[in-house]
Amino acid sequence: MDDNITIPLSYISQYNYCKRRAALLMIEQLWNENSYTAMGRGEHERVHTPAADHKSNCIVVTDMPVYSEKMLLFGKCDAVEMNEDINGCVIPFLDNKKYIPYPIEYKHGVLRDETEYELQLCAQAMCIEEMFTCHIDKGAVFYITSHRRHEVFFDEVKRKAVIETSAQLLKLSNSQTVPQAEFSPKCKKCSLNNLCMPNAEKSAEKYIKMIHGSFKEE
Ligand code: SF4
Repeated sequence: MDDNITIPLSYISQYNYCKRRAALLMIEQLWNENSYTAMGRGEHERVHTPAADHKSNCIVVTDMPVYSEKMLLFGKCDAVEMNEDINGCVIPFLDNKKYIPYPIEYKHGVLRDETEYELQLCAQAMCIEEMFTCHIDKGAVFYITSHRRHEVFFDEVKRKAVIETSAQLLKLSNSQTVPQAEFSPKCKKCSLNNLCMPNAEKSAEKYIKMIHGSFKEE
């Protein structure tokens, strides 16, 4: 593996949620637990134990390490269903049979439409494709609370977005610069809200105007 692989795969999701959040995690090494992250972590524990569970025509591998030398990404898949298929590929640590991998990312909560999770899953699939020289059409985000699967197809748009995001993350890592906050409804649920202070810039601007006598209440 290339020694330069430095970007954790989960940052694909963080960056597409908020660039500043990804930078605060990656560059400033900030972390702050809130109810959303705590629930997510608790619910994730079941799949964070490496195992290979044999079922008929399928082996479920949990906590599977993956990487891409092309995109300089590394990380883990919560679960990958290895479905026996003559058109698949050999997974060297299993046996000599052929499988089509089907990655599954576990998320806290109920079924919802979140592009950043789909891109994280697509990045996992692209890592597996590179590792085992295969093609993966689809995978799923599994919402733990509602026990529902959201199937995701890895089309060219998503693949391109993953490549662009990993390039942007590398750029961010090299620049060591944290982007300005852009307040949005996402900030309410963001565990870094207290550390990021997305409204602070606005407040400071008002304060400066006020002490220079140009501040007028709206
Ligand atoms: S509080 Fe808002 S701007 Fe700050 S990191 Fe979170 S989502 Fe991004």
